Amino acid sequence: MTAPTSVTLPAPVTPPEPSELAYVPFVSVHDMMALVRSRGIERTIAALADRIEDCFRRWPDFHRVARVPSHSRDGVIELMPTSDGDHYGFKYVNGHPANMARGYQTVTAFGVLARVDTGYPVLLSEMTVLTALRTAATSVVAAKHLAPKDATVMGMIGAGAQCEFQALGFHHVLGIREIRLHDVDPAATAKAARNLQGTGLRVVECATPEDAVAGAQIVTTCTADKRNATVLSDNMVGAGVHLNAIGGDCPGKTELARDILLRADIFVEHPEQTRVEGEIQQLDPDHPVTELWRVVTGQAPGRTGRDQITLFDSVGFAVEDFAALTWVHDAVRDGAAHERLDLLADPDDPRDLFGMLMRSG
Ligand code: NAD
Repeated sequence: MTAPTSVTLPAPVTPPEPSELAYVPFVSVHDMMALVRSRGIERTIAALADRIEDCFRRWPDFHRVARVPSHSRDGVIELMPTSDGDHYGFKYVNGHPANMARGYQTVTAFGVLARVDTGYPVLLSEMTVLTALRTAATSVVAAKHLAPKDATVMGMIGAGAQCEFQALGFHHVLGIREIRLHDVDPAATAKAARNLQGTGLRVVECATPEDAVAGAQIVTTCTADKRNATVLSDNMVGAGVHLNAIGGDCPGKTELARDILLRADIFVEHPEQTRVEGEIQQLDPDHPVTELWRVVTGQAPGRTGRDQITLFDSVGFAVEDFAALTWVHDAVRDGAAHERLDLLADPDDPRDLFGMLMRSG
């Protein structure tokens, strides 16, 4: 066999735009807030829900792996990668429940979107605000398929950073009219109630979790505590309720009494990840669960009866972050504010990286 004299590299399917080679757009927290305020928070959650549903419809196209965690005494740092073959994305995210007492966020994040054909990043974005929006959007997608159609009241336990996003998503997309809030810290409940004033939601501050779930057709648990907590006990969950369990998302960190899980039909994102991180870590490894994307595509039933208890055992999966990053990327291409990052070395002769360094003086 003769060795080839030259190597012909495949041309990218869609050539990069000149700006994609010159700089990497960076969407800061400031830029993200401006973008979301200009579009409207509720409309942003709805748009992200559409994106996420879209990605769930083409779930088999995605390279799916459980996120890579690095656990420590106070929390976890995780990398969440995925690709649909055209683009690759990852999120860096932490979860540190003890941070709140230090005056820090429990969850912070940033992420990258890159072209698969060149490997060049096309977006670097803050994702702390974006995660709260995409988590609400994912909850809404699940509830659209699983919650009772006539639901108007949601009980919400945990009134921290995620709370208002969840409340607004359910109000805007699913028509929830009343939110019954409870947090172990009354100051957090009061904060969320204050923030939700004027949104059209009737907000009821509840002194106990029992009061928060009374009369609710949907119950969202969104607490942060690095232990197997019992935010909801079995007797607090009646027939027909949809549970949107957000806070149990790490080994040894759950919110629901095990008996509830045994009475519920359970829906998950990526089973391999949820069995380690979600509420179902309390169950046998072969306990039946349904993947949410199968419900979205009509391959599996969602809610089938009035008395059925449905549980979305949410932990957050890379495909949702990928969907959110593509939405931000489109917004940047439509002119949304961003900074230009000099992130990629760009010598005139791609092989002359050294010469570029020397010429820089
Ligand atoms: P946060 O620290 O801002 O708020 C948590 C709130 O829970 C606090 O106000 C705290 O007082 C309250 N709380 C703790 N234990 C409670 C209890 N037993 N009963 C009632 N309230 C209680 O955290 P956050 O950013 O709002 O996140 C909430 C949870 O959601 C975290 O556990 C986080 O890891 C998780 N999360 C999940 C996803 C997902 O995709 N599933 C995404 C983001 C965050």
